[in-house]
Amino acid sequence: MEFINEEYIFSLLENRRLFDTGFQMEVLEKASCAKGLTLEDSAALLNISDYDLLKELFHRAKKIKEKIYGNRLVLFAPLYLSNLCVNNCLYCAFRRDNKALITEETGLLVKQGHKRILLVTGEHPKKSDIEFIGSAIKAIYQVHINGGNIRRLNVNTAPMSVEGFKELKSFGIGTYQCFQETYNFETYKKMHPDGPKSDYSWRLYAMDRALNAGIDDVGIGSLFGLTDYKFETLALLSHAFYLDGKFGIGPHTISIPRLEPALNAPAAENPPHAVSDIEFKKLVAVIRLAVPYTGMILSTRERPELRRELFDVGVSQISAGSRTSPGAYKESAESLEQYQMAQFQLGDHRSLEEVVKDCCELGYLPSFCTACYRSGRTGDRFMELAKSGNIGKLCTPNALSTFREYINDFAGEETKKAARDFMEIEINKVPDTAQKKIRKMIERVDNGERDVFF
Ligand code: SAM
Ligand code: SF4
Repeated sequence: MEFINEEYIFSLLENRRLFDTGFQMEVLEKASCAKGLTLEDSAALLNISDYDLLKELFHRAKKIKEKIYGNRLVLFAPLYLSNLCVNNCLYCAFRRDNKALITEETGLLVKQGHKRILLVTGEHPKKSDIEFIGSAIKAIYQVHINGGNIRRLNVNTAPMSVEGFKELKSFGIGTYQCFQETYNFETYKKMHPDGPKSDYSWRLYAMDRALNAGIDDVGIGSLFGLTDYKFETLALLSHAFYLDGKFGIGPHTISIPRLEPALNAPAAENPPHAVSDIEFKKLVAVIRLAVPYTGMILSTRERPELRRELFDVGVSQISAGSRTSPGAYKESAESLEQYQMAQFQLGDHRSLEEVVKDCCELGYLPSFCTACYRSGRTGDRFMELAKSGNIGKLCTPNALSTFREYINDFAGEETKKAARDFMEIEINKVPDTAQKKIRKMIERVDNGERDVFF
């Protein structure tokens, strides 16, 4: 636990100086340079309660987000491989055998237009072991329907040994994700009473093992609602700073799940430290300012209205059209049983197409790009490009060409028209020379070529 210094974090939370609005304003000025923040700075921003200052925080986070990510939003869908789990997390509903038809489920996602999947599993020696995961990954990559296929597969599964991670890497995964859930040791012990997950340190050092095993991109996260949100945010940032210091790259992504009701999961019904919407928006903005170059992932746990607000202050990747139980893309979305057996209840039930349309109306450019990972721009290579400000030069053309592919292949007539008009506006924003290149890429897509990228 060397890098989660609870005592220091608690001392920051009690430090009166960090409640001073003058100091908070100074930190906001510093944040505008997009160089990141210290833990102390982040604590000061989490303490903001003054309405005008809060508005200023959201405004600065929006500016940084626009500077680094433009108006792009990367889209993906989770795919639940197994809900058989040996753990007993008090907030999760995974306690049932599964009949996941992985190929069929992947096919349904491909037919909606998805190019990125996050594979999610419970922890089980047989049903979620490495061979099982490997065969599922192979099956997913093999699905090709009408030019559509899954091109980046991220994985959220229980921590492994270095050997296990080496094998996982060999399957061609994108990011390896694992959330600490809570970095507060006491709460962690309470929430994970038994099973392998009860070992706090084994989970905490999972990313060290993954990086040592050669996995370039790792994603960390906290399950908000289990402990005080200010503590959790500072601890999550401590983890990011630690990885950056030790490996020269911070986490590729940070996920910010918030506790949702789940069947027979007592801690989910009454979150011990429920986080309000405004607190949630604040912590998203603080993370964006503290680690400007780290992707931030928002799931469909949240309602559409709040999701829209969070895009504005820092979120860069979103899931859409999600179901959170194995086999659920196949089953009727409305099935009560499926709804109850899902890992947790969703806040956003809209289809991918509805989310895409909404993004365009709000001025966000949906991206189905998977280029970096397949061109070897991972780990420090990606971060260097991001920090030099050059990544956007690749991302915008790639977002536009993959979005065009989506529109041509999967969108209904009404969406097609709105999306094409929106694309035209976006293309016209780009400088002339780049515009020419983009128009060429789009022409290739319109002529039937697929997977066109820089
Ligand atoms: N079994 C693996 C593990 O625990 O790391 C990975 C899969 S788990 C299904 C994925 C994530 O879902 C967990 O890490 C947790 O943060 C989140 N989760 C579990 N129960 C939840 C709930 N009731 N509401 C919101 N998110 C939840
Ligand atoms: Fe199992 Fe993960 Fe759910 Fe815990 S959160 S019960 S480990 S699937």
